[in-house]
Amino acid sequence: VTFESLGIIPQICEACERLKFKAPSEIQAKSIPIALQGRDIIGLAQTGSGKTAAFSIPILQELWNAPQPFFACIMSPTRELAIQIAEQIEALGSTMGVRCATIVGGMDMMTQAIALSKKPHVIVCTPGRLVDHLENTKGFNLKHLKYLILDEADRLLDLDFGDEIDKVLKVIPRDRHTYLFSATMTNKVEKLQRASLVNPVKIEV
Ligand code: AMP
Repeated sequence: VTFESLGIIPQICEACERLKFKAPSEIQAKSIPIALQGRDIIGLAQTGSGKTAAFSIPILQELWNAPQPFFACIMSPTRELAIQIAEQIEALGSTMGVRCATIVGGMDMMTQAIALSKKPHVIVCTPGRLVDHLENTKGFNLKHLKYLILDEADRLLDLDFGDEIDKVLKVIPRDRHTYLFSATMTNKVEKLQRASLVNPVKIEV
């Protein structure tokens, strides 16, 4: 399997080459074609499987087809993971002019509000800080969001981000696409899945 054979556009294939991704990992080979069909996805995969690129590549490809601000929002349980995801999105989208904002706790709200006012295509965030901006940053909303990604959903819920995720679900469009990635399938993850995904395809590696 090659990235090209999964239907990925040349700009992103070239970025994969530059990053020394020789071939798609198993989670990428299984989930990218499903994502490009427009389906919601539950991905059961560990860190190290290549799950970040598995959800980032289809988002970037769809963004390339129809660029718009606040296209995708990726929720991560920790700041460190959010920063890593943003770096990977910027690397994969380096030839596409992708604007990515990292919205995490412990950093200055005003600096982040300025970043949001520049209308990024992709937001990578921790849930608490995203809700803080949704409630307090004038002019910022996710009313036109196309993609929601819940990364490491089991950890998001273990860290008690359930209420914040519910708040976000209430202010984004129903007709978006949603990908939920988790290392384990717990009762709480199943409940979140039922609340946030429509007729998802389950992919396990
Ligand atoms: P992740 O599971 O998303 O945290 O990715 C783990 C590491 O694998 C990251 O450093 C990625 O840059 C790298 N990676 C992702 N996809 C591939 C691939 N297809 N080939 C080689 N390395 C990859």
